Formats: sequence, structure tokens, C-alpha cells
Amino acid sequence: MTETVQKTIRSSEIDPKFKYEISKMHGGEKLMRCYQCGTCTSDCPIARFSDTYRPRQIIRMTQLGLKNRVLNSDTLWLCASCFTCTDRCPQDVEVASVIRVLRNLAAEQGHIPQVFKEQCASILESGYAYKIPELRLKKRETLGLPPLPKGNPGSIRKTLREAHLLKHLETKE
Ligand code: SF4
Ligand code: SF4
Repeated sequence: MTETVQKTIRSSEIDPKFKYEISKMHGGEKLMRCYQCGTCTSDCPIARFSDTYRPRQIIRMTQLGLKNRVLNSDTLWLCASCFTCTDRCPQDVEVASVIRVLRNLAAEQGHIPQVFKEQCASILESGYAYKIPELRLKKRETLGLPPLPKGNPGSIRKTLREAHLLKHLETKE
């Protein structure tokens, strides 16, 4: 995967229909209202700690039709979905929702960072986002805590299958 920050834009990279594609999706309708004020980036808690994550840049690249660059970017997955950007945008652009739409498209194309694939695999196996170490389970016992509730991966798998998401999560690298 590539980072979003690249200086040169080639005309061959531009998909002029991309902005319309996103604008038709739920949450992406107000994409074209963005006038690049930068409020979303300046208030984003993730941008504060990252040299590369800039929601304003993601919105601009989407407006410009840099589809592959946006969808292949690891930084897209740094968003914490806190909705601060959406709350503060003076143009009512639903920034967090645009990012969700972009992530969904990226996932459909198989661009899911390995760390999330591993979390998904763990959820599908046990119902938990990561394997709870045996030592920690024993520690609960010694502290008199009840056992952790069993996850229901079967039900999760069924829901994901019905939402047509399972096939993307089970895609091998
Ligand atoms: S706050 Fe809204 S208008 Fe300003 S750059 Fe972000 S998306 Fe665009
Ligand atoms: S929703 Fe994502 S882009 Fe928006 S402020 Fe929160 S972390 Fe930043």
C-alpha cells in the first residue's frame, strides 16, 4: 500500500467519476461542499499525532478523483471515527462518513491492513478482537472474577455473510 502524501499528480491517475460515485453513497452526499478550510485536520485527534494523516487531504484527493491513491492508502484506516471533523466542518461535509465510505470501497477491493484482518480473524474464531492469553484467564480465577462470557462467532459470521462482508474478511493476503 502507498501513503497518501505524494507530490506529483499524473492525469492518468485521475478518475473524474470518482467524486460522483462517492457523492451518491450514504454519507458522501456533501463531499463537493468542501472548500479546504482545514478545520477537520486541525481538530482531528489522530492528525495531531500523525505526520501523514490529514482528513482534509483525503477529502481533496477524493474530489480530484485520485481513487487508487486514496483507496490504497494505509492512512485511511487511522481514522478513529470520533466524528469531531463532521461536527466542526463549516460546510456540513460528513468527513467521517466519507472516510467510512472510502474504507468500505477499499475493503471491497481487498485493501484492508493486515492488523485489521488479524482482528477480524480473531473475532470470527472466538468473538473477541484478540486472543485472551491463558495467563490472564487464570489470573481472573485467582482474583475470584467470573469467567469471561463466551463469544458467539457463529452469529457474527452469519451477520457478516448476510451483509456480504464475510468474503472480504476471509480473503487471503
Ligand atoms: S472542515 Fe469541511 S470544508 Fe473544511 S477542509 Fe474539512 S471537510 Fe473541507
Ligand atoms: S472522525 Fe476520523 S478524521 Fe474525523 S476527527 Fe475523528 S479521527 Fe479525525
